[in-house]
Amino acid sequence: MMKKRMMKAAVVLTVAGSLISSGVQPAVANSGVNAQISDLKGKQQEVETKVSEKQSEITKLDGELKEIQGKIDSIRSKEAETEKKLAEAEEQLKKLEDEILELQEEIKILEERIEERKALIEQRAVESYQSGGDASYLEVLLGSQNFGDFVSKATTMTTIAEHDRDMLDEHIADEQKLQEMKAAVEEKKAAVEAQKQELEALKQELVSKREEMDKLRGDLDQKKQQLENELGEIISEEEILKNQEAALQAELNKQEEAASNGGSGQSSANRSNGKSKSSSNAVSSSSSSSSGGNSGGSSAPAASSAGFIHPAPGVGVYSGFGMRNGRPHNGVDFSSRGHIPIIASQSGTVSNSGYRHDYGNWITITHNVNGKQMTTLYAHLKERYVAAGESVSQGQTIGLMGSTGDSTGQHLHFEIHEGPFRFGASAVNPMKYL
Ligand SMILES: [Zn+2]
Repeated sequence: MMKKRMMKAAVVLTVAGSLISSGVQPAVANSGVNAQISDLKGKQQEVETKVSEKQSEITKLDGELKEIQGKIDSIRSKEAETEKKLAEAEEQLKKLEDEILELQEEIKILEERIEERKALIEQRAVESYQSGGDASYLEVLLGSQNFGDFVSKATTMTTIAEHDRDMLDEHIADEQKLQEMKAAVEEKKAAVEAQKQELEALKQELVSKREEMDKLRGDLDQKKQQLENELGEIISEEEILKNQEAALQAELNKQEEAASNGGSGQSSANRSNGKSKSSSNAVSSSSSSSSGGNSGGSSAPAASSAGFIHPAPGVGVYSGFGMRNGRPHNGVDFSSRGHIPIIASQSGTVSNSGYRHDYGNWITITHNVNGKQMTTLYAHLKERYVAAGESVSQGQTIGLMGSTGDSTGQHLHFEIHEGPFRFGASAVNPMKYL
């Protein structure tokens, strides 16, 4: 049921794991705990170094992102400029096209006038022939190949009025001028079209450059997101370690207090010392957590020789400790339906009580067993009744069995660690202690 994705975290935290030996003699109990605290402090130092490394990577990425954004902004303003020039060219082209149309219209009118004038001259030539004139002129005139030819021939005809000839010349000269103007406008239009094509190519270039930059920025954003996630994980690891350090210190203080009160100075001190520092940290339900000793009705189970009790009395093992589907399963799963109170397996101080994506609602309790730090972990809880920093006694109800986090059905995932909880690194088979 539990799938762990904590291998990376485990690697980070494994380094100093082996420093804590499991065979500390009671005689050097406190020095053992002190060594554990200094080990945790060293661990924290490592974590803090990692945090500042990640943070400086993020700062560097932020610089790169800013630089790319600057480039993107500059490309965008070039794009806008090109867009504006394109619109101008478009407008200019439209004007030139209108101009060409107008010129074409004028040319057409002139051509019509020339046609009319020509018809008039032809008619006069016919009339002149009919009134006894020379037929050869008419033949010559009708046989002309083009306007120029026609005009030059017509001018030789005495029968044509002087002003008709002049007008024809004028019309032809005007038409020529218009044709020249039209050619000039067309040339200009071609130049603007070429310019427009250049602008379009430039725009395309800018767009693809910007798309490239956008992609680069997307990659960097993603990288940054990843770094921030990693940072978040490291920071939460740091918090977990700090919490355990504080809990261990609290356990140590309890032990010293008990010793100075004439007690044995060992773990039994925890039981007599029932003061629950009711923490202001929010816990998920109302159930009283101040008094320990039972698990909601059934009689308190007897502690094993190692001093631990079943965290969900009477509930059977669903999945054991060890490799499972090619991955280490760092605890034991106890599964049952219904309202199942979860109890503290051993007296101690709550070091972590919160929610994680993998463990769901989880609690760790730091224990000081004969001068040796031990940690129990309770995961996938439906509810948590204790907060970090609280002192709990063995058998005290700390939560309810549930299926929160990475879980597919109601069960308790229970871990025991020799030393502090350092993800998979320090987990041992809980059945060895139950
Ligand atoms: Zn499990």
